[in-house]
Amino acid sequence: MAFETLSERLQSALKNVTRKGKLTEKDVDVMMREVRLALLEADVNIKVVREFIKEVKEKAIGETVLKSLTPGQQVIKIVNEELTKLMGDEAEYLNFGTSKPAVFMMVGLQGAGKTTHTGKLSTYLRKKDKKNPLLVACDVYRPAAVDQLKTIGKQLNIPVFEKGTSMNPVDIAAEAIAYAKENGHDLVIIDTAGRLHIDESLMNELKEIKALVKPQEILLVVDAMTGQDAVNVAESFHQQLDLTGVILTKLDGDTRGGAALSIRKMTNVPIKFMGMGEKLDTLEVFHPERMASRILG
Ligand code: GDP
Repeated sequence: MAFETLSERLQSALKNVTRKGKLTEKDVDVMMREVRLALLEADVNIKVVREFIKEVKEKAIGETVLKSLTPGQQVIKIVNEELTKLMGDEAEYLNFGTSKPAVFMMVGLQGAGKTTHTGKLSTYLRKKDKKNPLLVACDVYRPAAVDQLKTIGKQLNIPVFEKGTSMNPVDIAAEAIAYAKENGHDLVIIDTAGRLHIDESLMNELKEIKALVKPQEILLVVDAMTGQDAVNVAESFHQQLDLTGVILTKLDGDTRGGAALSIRKMTNVPIKFMGMGEKLDTLEVFHPERMASRILG
């Protein structure tokens, strides 16, 4: 399960304070040292950890908490609120804009789950927002990627616009949007190429597609299992493309928590969805508050 170790360590750090009738500054210090270690071991970014500890301490040491009747509970409430804040406070939804069709670009490194989540998002939005999506295969460097998207489209009964692998992805995107207009699709989701590493040609191609299609959403798909690397990937993509959201995948695995707890704070890009499995109906809106409560048990 995701965040299992982090969850256990935080719960045990907090258990000690709930037992006490009265809290001293020293009690808070001891507890926060444990919380700090738990976060670092979960691969949360060091800057994020530092700020988090500072905020919680300031609030916990504030007189009202130390003098309150149930100081332990108050501290837990503060930790919960700060964890929620770290992940962005409120869930943020998608922006469809006003022009038809709305265009979303899916970007990310190979293996993160981009193609799978192009499918997941389309079926989610068809159901939830009654959209009539068109999927576009712009990953022309891996022939298997086009086939994979076609297979997903077939499974979901959602049309896939593809031109094989010999046409330039920017031209494919342009044709796809014209096709969507003619055929009454109100949403176009473009599956762009991924690479094993970020490189200039990948970014240039994505920028060209962005300039042409003027997307309402540019969603970075990142693998939560990769911890701090996911944060670095998000920073680079955001610098180049101005991301509008992150889809954090593989949260059904035993990821430690570093990506989920660091990305928002480090990039200011909201995590909008989370991927909870390989199946196509395993996409969920990311709710910071629910996630914090889940972590704290
Ligand atoms: P892409 O290269 O970024 O397009 O990645 P794919 O969509 O091909 O996904 C790579 C692998 O990760 C595939 O085997 C997917 O089934 C798997 N995968 C994608 N999303 C998730 C997820 O949320 N949870 C799990 N457990 N596996 C996932």
